[in-house]
Amino acid sequence: MNIYLDMDGVCCDFVGAVCRLFGKPELIDNYPWDQWDIAGILDITEEELWTKVSNRGMEWWADMDAYPWFWSLYQGLDDLSPVTFLSSPTHDPQSLAGKLRWIQSRLGYRCTNYILTPRKNKALLARPGDILIDDSPKSIDDWNAAGGIGWLWRQRWNTEPALECLLDSEERLSHCLKRIGEIKENCNER
Ligand SMILES: [Mg+2]
Repeated sequence: MNIYLDMDGVCCDFVGAVCRLFGKPELIDNYPWDQWDIAGILDITEEELWTKVSNRGMEWWADMDAYPWFWSLYQGLDDLSPVTFLSSPTHDPQSLAGKLRWIQSRLGYRCTNYILTPRKNKALLARPGDILIDDSPKSIDDWNAAGGIGWLWRQRWNTEPALECLLDSEERLSHCLKRIGEIKENCNER
């Protein structure tokens, strides 16, 4: 069983970084429920979004805050099965470089457990029993359709307000690790 771990929205705070970049930090804790379209939320075009991000260069990606649960999630998963970061850079080569720097600054220059590829390619890796943890419902649907086991990492942007209880930091983490541990046990029993 391989575990693939998305970065933006799961390990690192992409949404927070974008909100700050566009001068709306107050949105971070009040992000609208179940709204994936961050450009629409900020009332800007996709082009404005990605141009401004590109102008910040590699450092914007490399310096993105890790979420407080990042190490517990990473290590808890890695105790179950080897973890590979699986993340989709933008078309800007600085995004690719910055994501690699983000990983290396935490796991060391020589770490090799990452695949950086466009989102539509993620599902090409979905072998039976392999797990993807991702905050994108589309990525999870594609992964499941390709035969893998997707785990939607809950955030306000992929969750209806009635399910707010799923966002409790500690429970979200422990629930994820528990369920993936169970999935691993089921795989081993087969
Ligand atoms: Mg993501």
